[in-house]
Amino acid sequence: MNSIFSIFITGLAAMCFASDSWALSSTSIETNAVKLTNAPSWLTENRVERVTAKLQDTLEWDIRKISVTFVASQTEFDAHHKLGPGVLAFTRKREKTIELGPRVINDNFDAVFGHELAHIIIGQKYTTDIPEWLEEGLCNWAAAWRTGSAKSKNPTIDYSWLSKQTYRPVAGLVHPFRTLSAGNEISDPVKYHYMASTALAEMLDKQCGMHQLLQLALKKGVTKYLSQFCEISDIDQSLKKWIAKKKP
Ligand SMILES: [Zn+2]
Repeated sequence: MNSIFSIFITGLAAMCFASDSWALSSTSIETNAVKLTNAPSWLTENRVERVTAKLQDTLEWDIRKISVTFVASQTEFDAHHKLGPGVLAFTRKREKTIELGPRVINDNFDAVFGHELAHIIIGQKYTTDIPEWLEEGLCNWAAAWRTGSAKSKNPTIDYSWLSKQTYRPVAGLVHPFRTLSAGNEISDPVKYHYMASTALAEMLDKQCGMHQLLQLALKKGVTKYLSQFCEISDIDQSLKKWIAKKKP
């Protein structure tokens, strides 16, 4: 259970409630990084290569080959991850597999697939060096903001909404499925988690430089690096200020 990393509908909602589902073509796509089975007809090898290349470039890593499966049946997909409704896709880092459910469509493929690839890279490259509270936001940052073409509707952070929610400490921003039932004071805990973790990643990138942070964090540890080089000694205070500053 702990090794499963998933992406939820919230935050990608605009893209994911679209009703155009894909027809099975039972096509396989194989690249250096992925072997993808049951590929829908709209998916091309070029697109898989493009998303993979951008994630590998952003996180500076060549993926050791993984298996990716499209699962056409929602019931079958839900039975595989057992994380409840709303899950679009999930990654098993240890097994090096990604499953994409039937709500992964032409419009959201880049963001969802990119997010899951980021989990894979974090597992292969950093093993346990990235703190859990940073991983989800880092995946969103790497995928949503670095793989978008002009056409793709990338998820964005609703700072206005975020600023109205009761603040929850960064330490609690571990993977969403663990916080699904928590926080009555928050109207949508999953949305909060998605937005707050992505806001955190955006703040760290702007104030610290994500690339440098990732490079040096391996040697020094993220928390130590933040206080020594980025003047972030209290990450919660910094994030609160950032959200207040960013809200329109
Ligand atoms: Zn995730």
